[in-house]
Amino acid sequence: MTTYLDSPHTTADGTALAASPDTEAQILDLYRAHLSKGRATVAELFGSHMEVASEGAWLWTSDGERFLNCGGYGVFIMGAKHPVVMDAVRRQLETHPVATRILLEPTVARAAEALTSVVPGGLNRVHFGLGGAEAVETGLKLARANGRRRLVSMRAGYHGKSLGALSVTAKEVYQKPFRPLLPDVAHVPFGDVAALEAELAAHPGEVCVIVEPVQGEGGVILPPHGYLREVERLVRKYRGFLILDEVQSGMGRLGEWWGADLYGITPDVLLAGKALGGGVAPVSAALANRETFSPFDKDPYVHTATFSGSPLLMAAVRGAVDAIKQDELVSRALRLGGRLLPAVEGVVRNTIPDLVKEVRGQGLLIGVELVEAGLAGELLIELFNHGVVANHSMNGSSVVRFTPPAILTEQQEDLLLTALDRACRDLVRHSARMPEGGR
Ligand code: PMP
Repeated sequence: MTTYLDSPHTTADGTALAASPDTEAQILDLYRAHLSKGRATVAELFGSHMEVASEGAWLWTSDGERFLNCGGYGVFIMGAKHPVVMDAVRRQLETHPVATRILLEPTVARAAEALTSVVPGGLNRVHFGLGGAEAVETGLKLARANGRRRLVSMRAGYHGKSLGALSVTAKEVYQKPFRPLLPDVAHVPFGDVAALEAELAAHPGEVCVIVEPVQGEGGVILPPHGYLREVERLVRKYRGFLILDEVQSGMGRLGEWWGADLYGITPDVLLAGKALGGGVAPVSAALANRETFSPFDKDPYVHTATFSGSPLLMAAVRGAVDAIKQDELVSRALRLGGRLLPAVEGVVRNTIPDLVKEVRGQGLLIGVELVEAGLAGELLIELFNHGVVANHSMNGSSVVRFTPPAILTEQQEDLLLTALDRACRDLVRHSARMPEGGR
């Protein structure tokens, strides 16, 4: 079977680019008229370019410019349009994209089989959703159905913005306009074992803890050594419930299939999303063992959603798992991340030593923390001007986040580092021109 790695490198063909009859100005007006103003503002910050095509690590804009996609908020572990995923989705699209939901349907069963085959700890039952927040809601409902009605989440943690998920996403600006949220939620500092134990000990048998293995949106915050094992031990000691949110960290991103593998823990519920749809479809999942999942077994309609397990999405899930296995993307992520982290650190320490606080990462989740938030935004724009897309971090505004795909070639790796070098030098030049306090 052809995989992305051995297929010849093709650029998006000219017809794909020419096929977009819209101008940037028209689309910006439509954003302003019908979408949120904020989205238009962000696009304007990046020069109002319009993305129209993608393949592998490349992204094309309507003016024919090509960018290396090291952003995408963690979705593209296998790049865009991986052939294995595309073939599976195309086939499904032509045969049976959406099911009746009352008959047996093979794709959902095969996707569940494929996904549970790569998830540790006997978590062999799965509920599929679309977005990450939907998986979080499923996890929170499983906790309640298993008798844990109190929640503890981590400061700077990110779990999405639907009402339940927002209740555990402890950021004032996101929560404030929408209160009241879920009751009985406490937030403790990530890494603070004593604070967590105090919460668990105050309500034994009642607490569900939700935590990311590495805080992605928090600004790539790695857990202190032994922390997650300690979290698991304390949860068990006080008869709590543990949800591990791997929406961003899972599917090979950390150089292991899951953070659960990397840190040697078994949660009650593991959440997946983003890369789960192979960079093609929106899919998420909440996985649990048979006993934990059993409240959902009692009534076929107790926790349902129209598009849960839809064949088109399930084809993407199976394709994604197959693609990661075939191309050995987990070990590639580890090796590539092992090279990129010191290389990125080398570039920024060399070019902007006074502006960098820390460079940290695990696998292909890499963060560069700058001394102030404004600089992170400026560096993102400079990077874009040199052909690289990266992300800011929603709960860690001074951190530029790189989530490159595991399929980067050596030339693309070089291109990333060269672009970073130039972007940093331009950052210094442009910042120096600004008036004091102008950043
Ligand atoms: N959990 C984590 C760890 C995430 O990083 C995100 C998204 N950044 C979510 C949940 C929410 O996912 P979505 O935006 O698809 O709802």
